[in-house]
Amino acid sequence: MDAHLKKIMHEKVHHTIAGLKKNNINGYFVTSIEDLQTKIKELIPAEGTIAVGGSQTLFETGTLDFLRTQPYLFFDRYAPGLTAADLKEIHRKAFTADAYLCSVNAITESGELYSVDGSGNRVAAMIYGPDKIIVVAGYNKIVKDLPDAITRNREISAPANNVRLNTGTPCIHTGSCIDCKTPSRICCAYVTIGFQRDPNRIHVIFIDGEYGY
Ligand code: SF4
Repeated sequence: MDAHLKKIMHEKVHHTIAGLKKNNINGYFVTSIEDLQTKIKELIPAEGTIAVGGSQTLFETGTLDFLRTQPYLFFDRYAPGLTAADLKEIHRKAFTADAYLCSVNAITESGELYSVDGSGNRVAAMIYGPDKIIVVAGYNKIVKDLPDAITRNREISAPANNVRLNTGTPCIHTGSCIDCKTPSRICCAYVTIGFQRDPNRIHVIFIDGEYGY
C-alpha cells in the first residue's frame, strides 16, 4: 500500500482504539505477525483452554497454526475428521474456554463490534461466553459507523464468505446481498457489541494490513 494511504489507515486504527476504550474494550495495534503472536501470548494464560470462531483472518495471519504450537488445550473446530456432532460439541465447549479468538465483520470508529453469523456460535460466545475475547482484525474492518458496518457485510464480508464456503447463495453471483431466503444463508444473527461492563474482557488486536473479509 502507498505510504500516504497507510499513514491514513494507521490514524484510523488509533482513532478506533480510542473509540473502543470509551466502550470498555481494549485495543492494540501490532505491525507484524510476530508481534501479534506475542500479544496473544500476553493475553492468554499459559496452558489455558482456548477456542476460535470461524475466521478467514485467523487463517491468513497464521494464528490457527500458531495456537496449535502453544501449550493450550485447544477446542479446535478445524481439526481434521470432525463430524457434525463433534463440531456442535466444540461450539458448546467454547463457552467454557479461558479465551476465545475470532474476528468480526466490521468495527466502527466509535468502537462498536459488528458481526453477522449463520449458526450464531461466534456471536453467542462473544456476547456471553468466555471471560476473555480476543478479536484479530486488519484495518480493512474499520468503518465509519453502524450503517457502514451493515453495508460492509452486505457488499463484502457475506458475499466473499459465501464464495469461500461455497454455500450456493445468490450473492455469490450478484456480488452483493439480495436478502435471500436460501437455507444455506450465512446471515442469520446480526449482533452489535457496543459496550462491556468488564473492561478486561474484550481485546481487539489490529494488525497492520488487510486481512479477511
Ligand atoms: S442474506 Fe443471503 S444474499 Fe444476503 S449476503 Fe447473506 S447469504 Fe448473501
